[in-house]
Amino acid sequence: MSDTGKTILVAEDEDMNFMLIKEIFRKSSYTILRAETGFEALRLIDAHPEISLVLMDIKMPGMTGYEATRAIKLKRNVPVIAQTAFAMSGEEAECYAAGCDAYITKPIRVDSLLELTKKFLNQ
Ligand SMILES: [Mg+2]
Repeated sequence: MSDTGKTILVAEDEDMNFMLIKEIFRKSSYTILRAETGFEALRLIDAHPEISLVLMDIKMPGMTGYEATRAIKLKRNVPVIAQTAFAMSGEEAECYAAGCDAYITKPIRVDSLLELTKKFLNQ
């Protein structure tokens, strides 16, 4: 059940949210990469083939998490977990339509995130 060597891409525009996620993974040995925009997430996916999971904020300026997920899935089949506040109805369906494999609701719970991460990294 080792998490050594796994790289997770976190697409998150808000610093506080990213810091929280980073703190949740602090005791793990995952390598955490951050994208502040959807476009940057795409660039990092191309530049880092070792990324084995994406944690995708849905609400980002410019390219949304839905659009970024669609574009990532055209490139390769890396699992994407959406993080969303589900403020509007229909967001869950839109998540899956965009190709997300799962979602986690904000505010993010530590145990939920760790559990989902392990599941998608097959640990
Ligand atoms: Mg956001």
